[in-house]
Amino acid sequence: MPTNLAVNGAAGRMGRQLLGAIAERDDAMLTGASDAPGQASIGVDASVLSGGASTGVTVEDNLSTIVKTSDVVIDFTAPKVSLAVLEACVDTDTAVVIGTTGFDPEQLEQLNSYAKRMPIMFAPNYSIGVTVTLDLLEKAARALGDDYDVEIIEAHHRHKVDAPSGTAIKMGEVVADALGRDLATCAVYGRQGITGERDTQTIGFETIRAGDIIGEHTVLYAGNGERIEITHRATDRMTFARGAVRAAVWLSKQPAGIYDMRNVLGLV
Ligand code: NAD
Repeated sequence: MPTNLAVNGAAGRMGRQLLGAIAERDDAMLTGASDAPGQASIGVDASVLSGGASTGVTVEDNLSTIVKTSDVVIDFTAPKVSLAVLEACVDTDTAVVIGTTGFDPEQLEQLNSYAKRMPIMFAPNYSIGVTVTLDLLEKAARALGDDYDVEIIEAHHRHKVDAPSGTAIKMGEVVADALGRDLATCAVYGRQGITGERDTQTIGFETIRAGDIIGEHTVLYAGNGERIEITHRATDRMTFARGAVRAAVWLSKQPAGIYDMRNVLGLV
């Protein structure tokens, strides 16, 4: 039996790709699609958004129908909207895959509390490549230790509303954990003016927003006389969408808890 999947935020850049990625798989079926009230796509067949074959699924302007018909809701929208999706799904046996980034600490706490009652997949980046990169970053940080300065540089398109990217923050967390540091106290976001010399215990973040860049991340480990740069470049949003749909099929068979792509790939 295929897993029944719904997409909230279906008209968005990622939403459209998710519809296409679901259509590619034999073990998944689109059973719901929704977006914000007032969007031009409300009431049309979801295939209008994906450019694929007719789905028989109409884009709704609320969650109630899609929650009823689906095993998993995939949501790439905004933090407040994602929390509303969790609230709509928590008592209905519906799991949720969240791709949204930019949650503040209080919102993250709320998200984690839902995970006690329902299966939630939460990853700032659903590409397989970034998931493997996180493993490489951890290994490099452990081997290099405190003698190497760590800087994280990320670039995204001009429409992105949060910075640094969720992926850059996740990379920082992985490196900080491996070095026995707390990212909340060692992160430095951008530099300007008379900054003084670099504190060796910090992890620096630099953000670029320009054009249509899909997503690029470089983690730089710089020592004396050498440096290592580990870079991931996404060139197609489908890479995130395919990962998220694979994660949704996996999540449909899991008990309550919070998971990320490393669980899906069997890395943890
Ligand atoms: P977007 O602005 O193109 O799409 C967001 C969609 O959400 C829009 O269609 C909008 O109408 C819809 N929306 C807003 N309010 C809503 C509501 N109340 N109910 C239903 N739908 C609502 O944005 P995007 O580029 O698709 O990115 C969305 C999110 O996904 C961002 O946080 C981005 O950082 C994140 N993202 C994550 C990954 C990943 O792999 N985890 C990859 C790319 C983007």
